[in-house]
Amino acid sequence: MPASLKSLPSRTADSGTDSPLRRRVRRVSDCVFCRIVAGAAPAHRVYEDDTVTAFLDIRPITRGHTLVIPKRHATDLSELDAETGVDLFRVGHRIARAVQGPGFAADGANLLVNDGKAAFQTVAHVHLHVIPRSHGDKFRFATGLVLRRSREPERVAAALRADLAALDPRTGSADDTA
Ligand code: 5GP
Ligand code: ZN
Repeated sequence: MPASLKSLPSRTADSGTDSPLRRRVRRVSDCVFCRIVAGAAPAHRVYEDDTVTAFLDIRPITRGHTLVIPKRHATDLSELDAETGVDLFRVGHRIARAVQGPGFAADGANLLVNDGKAAFQTVAHVHLHVIPRSHGDKFRFATGLVLRRSREPERVAAALRADLAALDPRTGSADDTA
């Protein structure tokens, strides 16, 4: 097991009050997103800092669909401290700005957290979806069914990294005169 996984708190969810999602993650090494943080599972990473990392969704809803996660395991929002929540949104905000750069030319983005099984959370490690949107794209939250297949993830991740790097580091604005 990688050293960085060993250093994470091990979860032995044996309390009767645990949610089904929490019960499924009995050890952090069971969590695919913790394995990505530790470098023990592959991902097309586009951003990383001390508290947060971001990588492409394996089944993107739209091109550049990215997940922003806390590096420290938190199953759902009830386990996430508010400061890390701020960090998640700060990075999600930045990615939402970046996808409007030349590599994507998106017209907008949906930022979304599915918190808990009732809200269709399927991976038991908090994640903020950043879903680039374009005028006329086919995705509708309400109607659901959509073809989700990863195409050229290396190229997509490289374009997103380039658009992130092009943002003004101080303001997060695409206009470096701001
Ligand atoms: P949820 O429904 O929990 O909000 O979304 C979980 C997301 O994680 C889904 O969009 C799914 O495609 C993505 N996902 C699940 N497993 C993996 C994985 O191993 N790697 C990556 N990059 N994404 C994953
Ligand atoms: Zn985890």
